[in-house]
Amino acid sequence: RASTGNLPFDSEVDALILKAYHRYLDLNDGQLADYIPILAQADPALFGLALTDIAGTQYRAGDTGASFSIQSISKAFVFALVCEEIGHSAVHDRVGVNNTGLPFNSVMAVELNDGHPMNPMVNAGAIATTALMPGATDVEQWEAIRLGLSRFAGRPLELDGDVYRSEMAANQRNKAIARLLESYGRLTTDPLETVDVYTRQCALSVTANDLATMGATLAGGGVNPITGERVVSAEVARDTLAALAAAGMYERSGEWLFEIGLPAKSGVSGGIVAVSPGKGAIGVYSPLLDPAGNSVRGQRACGYLSRSLGLNLFASP
Ligand code: GLU
Repeated sequence: RASTGNLPFDSEVDALILKAYHRYLDLNDGQLADYIPILAQADPALFGLALTDIAGTQYRAGDTGASFSIQSISKAFVFALVCEEIGHSAVHDRVGVNNTGLPFNSVMAVELNDGHPMNPMVNAGAIATTALMPGATDVEQWEAIRLGLSRFAGRPLELDGDVYRSEMAANQRNKAIARLLESYGRLTTDPLETVDVYTRQCALSVTANDLATMGATLAGGGVNPITGERVVSAEVARDTLAALAAAGMYERSGEWLFEIGLPAKSGVSGGIVAVSPGKGAIGVYSPLLDPAGNSVRGQRACGYLSRSLGLNLFASP
């Protein structure tokens, strides 16, 4: 089969994915997240690396079928669903797209900006985004999120109830952020109900392979390459990738863009999705994290693949 976009031929991509996997398999640096108690029980040896291209070819190495909670990576896809619903200008006004330069769960970032949540990839902005999901009740909003993210993945995604309960018992800070947004008149929903929906979206169970397909849907202008279904418009896919480039990798977003040159989102359970527009997306799972909350193996593997597959957006052809 011919190459997709400017990706090399299948056999070459296959070989590079395997090479990236073996190159970082013995890298055991980093720590498990523990502020959500159950995440500290993850197996630090797990490492799955997947790539889905926009024609629907899937490449895999390692533990690409291992399930983990999507955590912050959900923010990217819920943002896309909300953009589709309320449009470019409204989402810009109400959620914003600028990097805060502060940790993802910073209360200070909200205070410093007159209660504006700043961007959809930090907790304040993600909670504000979840509040904008269509649905008359929190139950309907949650169902719309679960179904929407399932359309990105091309299969029904389910809640990991243990992760949800573990985080609900430890999410006082997110409740405080939601109350703070409310105090600034930035939330029109019940703050605690919205945090409940947000916590559920973070506890959706996915695999590295799911992340690659979800990312490939954005890479392909909003069309899922496995199911052929249009999930969001091309404009929304573009806008979502711009928000990821600005703020997807916590306070390392600038360094990530400088080194790897791809819009991406990571989560504290150890997942990363990195998107190459018009080509495909990489999904990685490896739970050992750097101090910012990004998977150590995941970052290295994405860097290697970005270089070897020529994915950096800023490189001249
Ligand atoms: N559910 C987590 C939180 O809200 C997500 C954190 C993350 O992955 O960055 O704290």
